Amino acid sequence: MKKLFTKWDFIIILICLCLSVLLFALRPNENGNEAVIRVDGKEYKTVDINGADTDEITVNGVTVVYGGGEIYIKDSSCRDKICVNAGHLSKKGQSAVCAPSRVSVEIKNNGKNAPRAVTG
Ligand SMILES: [Zn+2]
Repeated sequence: MKKLFTKWDFIIILICLCLSVLLFALRPNENGNEAVIRVDGKEYKTVDINGADTDEITVNGVTVVYGGGEIYIKDSSCRDKICVNAGHLSKKGQSAVCAPSRVSVEIKNNGKNAPRAVTG
């Protein structure tokens, strides 16, 4: 029978598991105010997510919607839709990744996080 996992696959899975546990333990609870959209690991655009109006941007077939203090991947041309299922992100450090499209979105906080004004 063919081995499905090599030792290295196992180690990588283990590292991923440890990272998720760590990320869960250190759940960010600070709101972010901007998000970095990356393509191929390179910064494509940094957007302000605290705008009152939502805006969207499509890159590599991935449609990202941002505004109102959050950002999310609305639609993607990928098959697994893991990125879409990542849901709405609003806290610093949260991210959504579309591996097939090589697009990632990560929430940041540039320190200029004025309390969001409540308007109408
Ligand atoms: Zn995807």
